[in-house]
Amino acid sequence: MKKIVSLAKRRGFIFPSSEIYGGFSAIYDYGPYGVELANNIKKEWWKSMVQLREDIVGLDSCIFMHPKIWEASGHVSGFSDPLAECKKCHARLRVDHLLEDIGVQADEKMSEDDINKLFKKNKEKIKCPKCGKQDFTDAKKFNLLVKSNLGNFTDKWDKEPAYLRGETCQGIYVNFKNVLDSTRAKIPFGIAQIGKAFRNEITARQFVFRTREFEQMEMQYFTDPENEMKEYEKLREYRWQWYLNLGIKEKNLRWLKHENLVFYAKEAYDIEYNYPFGFKELEGVHARGDYDLSQHTKFSGQDLTYTDPTNNKKYMPHIIESSVGVGRAMLAVLTDAYTEEKVKDETRVVLKLDKKIAPIKVAVFPLLRNKPELVKKAREVFEMLKPHFTCEFDDNGNIGKRYRRQDELGTVVCLTCDFETLEDNTLTIRDRDTMKQERVKISELDSVLKDRLE
Ligand code: ATP
Repeated sequence: MKKIVSLAKRRGFIFPSSEIYGGFSAIYDYGPYGVELANNIKKEWWKSMVQLREDIVGLDSCIFMHPKIWEASGHVSGFSDPLAECKKCHARLRVDHLLEDIGVQADEKMSEDDINKLFKKNKEKIKCPKCGKQDFTDAKKFNLLVKSNLGNFTDKWDKEPAYLRGETCQGIYVNFKNVLDSTRAKIPFGIAQIGKAFRNEITARQFVFRTREFEQMEMQYFTDPENEMKEYEKLREYRWQWYLNLGIKEKNLRWLKHENLVFYAKEAYDIEYNYPFGFKELEGVHARGDYDLSQHTKFSGQDLTYTDPTNNKKYMPHIIESSVGVGRAMLAVLTDAYTEEKVKDETRVVLKLDKKIAPIKVAVFPLLRNKPELVKKAREVFEMLKPHFTCEFDDNGNIGKRYRRQDELGTVVCLTCDFETLEDNTLTIRDRDTMKQERVKISELDSVLKDRLE
């Protein structure tokens, strides 16, 4: 983990937020290569979930929504984690995680009583991860919603806050009818969106795995009650395949079935990834029954039932969902791609990212930076390629250093213009993974690169 965090910082993928002010806990910024990587992951998700699917449409709802939505969804009363404090060092800890760490199945959705019973029963085995002591307060439920004073000009805004959304899918549920009325969507169909979410996470360790501001990629699929589980199985298969297409090694993925289901859920699985700190939730794929639209019908007074135009059957749509955080996906692909190789006497660090998501596809170098004719030629090649591929021009340091830097960024190919280039318009193309170099004609670059990158 240390190596990944260090590479992410050193090479401009992920920076701690507000670093010059000492940082701001559990918030991270994406640097120049991080934003490219995140955008590529989002692009792949959108392509798979919207572009390639006739039955799914996109949406971009706002972060702020009517506060009643969060009452209807159950977030105001029940979106909480069990919090305990270490009496010695005052670290705030999530009790379900402390229990999980010693192999006891626990869930943040358990009641305060139930989790405290488990906590007491296992107290002997649990140590504070910060100071190692074993003296804790009882667990208390702590609400994770982040409040704001938006639209409230009194000093009592705290009583009636506007919330920063705790998940993006509520924006999908409350737009279900709008989408239905404005498109030709017919059940079964889905609505997908990518957007920011905010949670007052208690323990925010583990880098971008758990942050207080994060981005979710969520798809909610509306089905006839009878077909819910059939569609659920299809979605599970589809989502698993997405990770394999992203180049993630299958041995680093596994399914975890939820044992403690919330009362309305039919079935719930997580896709877990083998992070440096062990297998943890990367994505949730859940069958949610008719809970969401029933709740919004009840709280808004608007009828959200659906009438099937083929047989006039009227029912409350059931929902299956897929939900993944961009940060967790990014940490998974970085972990999966991080490779150290022995090359002669040196260790080469290389990010073997899938070419679809690599932040830079092509780096272009002049062999020497102090030879204007080489720099000019390399610039010409760079200018020619940059409208088509994400490219970088680099003339810093010697060629070995440039290769090392590009390897750490996961750049798929490097092109070098040397003295031969000036004579015969050929250059070398170096492959990131094999390090093999070949000479190719500049006139054929377009098709060579398309072959290697697309
Ligand atoms: P956890 O049990 O790890 O807190 P969760 O079950 O609360 O996660 P969901 O509410 O199901 O998570 O959210 C769906 C997805 O959003 C998660 O699978 C994860 O990828 C992402 N996610 C949730 N919380 C965070 C967070 N604090 N930081 C980054 N990503 C998150």
